[in-house]
Amino acid sequence: MATINSAYRKLASGYLFPEINRRVRSWQERNPDKKVLRLGIGNTTEALPQAICEAMIEKVEELGKRETYTGYGDEQGDGYLRAALVEYYKKGGVSLEMDEVFVSDGAKSDAANIQTLFSIDSVVAVADPAYPVYVDSNVASGRSEGWDENLGMYKDLVYLSCTEENGFIPPLPSQKVDLIYLCNPNNPTGAVMSHEQVKRFIDYARKNKSVIIYDSAYSEYITEEGYPRSIYEIEGAKECAIEISSFSKFSGFTGVRLGWTVVPRSLVCEDSKPRELNRMWNRRQTTFFNGASNIAQKGGYAALSGEGYEQSRVLVAYYLENARLIREGLQRIGLTVYGGINSPYIWAKTPNGIDSWTFFDQLLDQCHVVVTPGGGFGPAGNQFVRVSAYNHRENVEEAMKMIQENLMI
Ligand SMILES: *Cc1c(COP(=O)(O)O)cnc(C)c1O
Repeated sequence: MATINSAYRKLASGYLFPEINRRVRSWQERNPDKKVLRLGIGNTTEALPQAICEAMIEKVEELGKRETYTGYGDEQGDGYLRAALVEYYKKGGVSLEMDEVFVSDGAKSDAANIQTLFSIDSVVAVADPAYPVYVDSNVASGRSEGWDENLGMYKDLVYLSCTEENGFIPPLPSQKVDLIYLCNPNNPTGAVMSHEQVKRFIDYARKNKSVIIYDSAYSEYITEEGYPRSIYEIEGAKECAIEISSFSKFSGFTGVRLGWTVVPRSLVCEDSKPRELNRMWNRRQTTFFNGASNIAQKGGYAALSGEGYEQSRVLVAYYLENARLIREGLQRIGLTVYGGINSPYIWAKTPNGIDSWTFFDQLLDQCHVVVTPGGGFGPAGNQFVRVSAYNHRENVEEAMKMIQENLMI
């Protein structure tokens, strides 16, 4: 008799994006002739850089000939790409070994899977608000007794509340925790932690033998000085941090699919032997994963240097210009906004303290603009909405015009 994994029942129903889609569909049915402007989901919209396309086309042609065809590659990623990632880090002053870098089909799966390296009774801390994957993967793995309806939080998880008062920088946990998820620059708040602010977490983690899971998917959006692009820029991080990153926002690979994770050899937790966690992740990937697409890997290689890198920078600059237009557009009508400088996300405070879903409905009804209600990322987001810069420029301009002309606050 098979029985289900009941931890899945602990997941709260109504995942954020399906609920948004349901509301938008229902509105569109009632307003069939109106155009919806989507600044909700963080999905890239602009063409892939040309140099990256050419590299992938070349690989496809090689696959079409017997002499140059290749099948499975290494589960950890092709050697030339891992070497290029080591080189990419080196330019930022970080030295890594090739066997510390694991190529994957994207950061989301790695962010969800990485918790399997740690015991089921690990206490998990997440920033509030947070990218839902960190929370849901731990709940589905059995680290929570379930959803607390009153608090709007999962039981047993530790929420690090990011508010206007602390500049949306997560405070250190006030108790001992085992795993800490940090996303820097942050999705959804657009805030970015400085070296000093990240260092406080590293000091905490080393003192408590905790492990930091650091998501740097938006590192290429850092435009100002003083912010780390990798956690390994900070001394001591290799003993306590895993870094997860992606080509999705870096060079428009949301559909192509490619990411990587760094598990340093010197990473340790309370009861691990030296190198054990690095070997465990290697074992996990070689057992559960058969490697990223060889076409995508050629594309990723092209994105890391030369023309492909320059063109990716142009792509990032395009989205950051959208972010500036959104930030300034919302400020002009009197909203309080954060983020949007070292990040493609603007974290806008709802007017008059209204709830984020109420403001979502209002923006949809009055302006035909879709945003993401902050409450979907955690209770600290209840009076904010996330506005995404991932759209065509003309849609961003139209959305700002619609908001300026039609929003009644
Ligand atoms: C978009 C995003 C990613 C990227 O995920 P992929 O699976 O690589 O597309 C990772 N982390 C965060 C916080 C993101 O917003």
